[in-house]
Amino acid sequence: MKICVIGTGYVGLVAGAGFADMGNDVVCCDVDAQKIDGLQRGVMPIYEPGLDKLVTHNAAEGRLTFTTDVASGVAGAEVVLLAVGTPPGPDGSADLSYIMKAAETVGAALTGWAVIVTKSTVPVGTGDKIEAIVAKRAKHEFAVASNPEFLKEGDALSDFMKPDRVVIGTSDKRAIETLRALYAPFTRTNDRMLVMDRRSAELTKYAANSMLATRISFMNDLANLCEILGADIELVRRGMGSDNRIGPKFLFAGPGFGGSCFPKDLRAAISTGREVGYKLEVLDAVVAVNERQKQRLGEKILKHFGGDLKGKKIAVWGLAFKPGTDDIREAPALVLIDQLLSAGAKVSASDPVAIAAVRKQLGDRISYEEAHYDCAKGADGLALVTEWHEFRRPSFERLKSLLKSPVLFDGRNVWDPAELRAAGFKYYGIGRGKDG
Ligand code: NAD
Repeated sequence: MKICVIGTGYVGLVAGAGFADMGNDVVCCDVDAQKIDGLQRGVMPIYEPGLDKLVTHNAAEGRLTFTTDVASGVAGAEVVLLAVGTPPGPDGSADLSYIMKAAETVGAALTGWAVIVTKSTVPVGTGDKIEAIVAKRAKHEFAVASNPEFLKEGDALSDFMKPDRVVIGTSDKRAIETLRALYAPFTRTNDRMLVMDRRSAELTKYAANSMLATRISFMNDLANLCEILGADIELVRRGMGSDNRIGPKFLFAGPGFGGSCFPKDLRAAISTGREVGYKLEVLDAVVAVNERQKQRLGEKILKHFGGDLKGKKIAVWGLAFKPGTDDIREAPALVLIDQLLSAGAKVSASDPVAIAAVRKQLGDRISYEEAHYDCAKGADGLALVTEWHEFRRPSFERLKSLLKSPVLFDGRNVWDPAELRAAGFKYYGIGRGKDG
């Protein structure tokens, strides 16, 4: 099958490489000439475990190509995937300008029947708008289907290759058959394809992200209560998560959720409700709790040092919004760093892959250390914000010898408070009793 992917970012590149790996001919298009030029030379624009191998292998086999010429990519394609960004506009609603521009280009470039598949996360009713835009320009018949993407950064390849489900939103029979054939290799063990109407498919993506974010905010809210009551959120988490009806996932208290999806998708869902006169009260609370939570770690640090960080150096481990990615969009670490700098601290930061992205944004306002122990050298305290594997079990003995004062702010509750206190550290976690 010939497939064209419009937008070669986290979703477009993973999907393009994944479909190519199943034997399809895939052209990935992007308006970013630098990105396309890099990909043509085998340079990955993002960090995602395993992606470089998959891309270079399929490019070498001639099944995966890259271009800035969208029209040439669309020509002859049976499936055209829209995977461009849908960032938040000033009022929180999804900015659909990229997707509408892409739809215009695709409409004019169709050379025969194709199903135009929206992989981007878009508000309910966007499929109708895409259909209208394409219809104005297309000289051929086409269908528009919603196919929201559920991959998570850091584990994107395995999510894409072994999806929990594939949601397809369309009533067009030919589109359903085409997409069934496209996804069949990914759902061989059992049929995980859910076909529904387009509006329900569009809403499913917002519903899924909203539910996951709700679990996080719920636990963060409880964690704050634990600190007042003298309970440990980690024990509460295990106690409740072992209930089959609840399950253990997405129940971790921490520094608040960030990333390119949850914050923007929640705001967009709330905005969708507002547009039709419905207040999504649960989601309002989820966002408010998260905004507050992103300040918590910084507040703990400030409190420990008596409210003034002038002359103090704080080391920050973990900058990406989660492990396994270099994505720093809405990362909690950036909020923390801002708080620390505003209070007069010097900040030294380390991350296995996200330093370059942060340097682009913050420049020399902070210092960077590739080696994470060097980052802790001479610091008055160390804050863990992203739980990369290498941060989970560091040598605390070494840390103690490097830090000016042995104070740890564990934003992910990955360290053992009792062990660290016994080893002479002052330990703060999230929701771990009255001592923080
Ligand atoms: P991204 O910013 O990494 O990539 C988007 C790409 O689209 C950019 O490279 C941009 O240059 C390109 N682009 C914009 N307009 C274009 C046009 N007219 N023609 C061709 N290319 C164009 O975005 P992303 O993180 O891959 O997200 C894409 C969509 O998928 C968003 O709606 C997002 O919410 C959704 N999504 C993202 C994830 C994720 O984990 N990142 C997961 C599921 C769904």
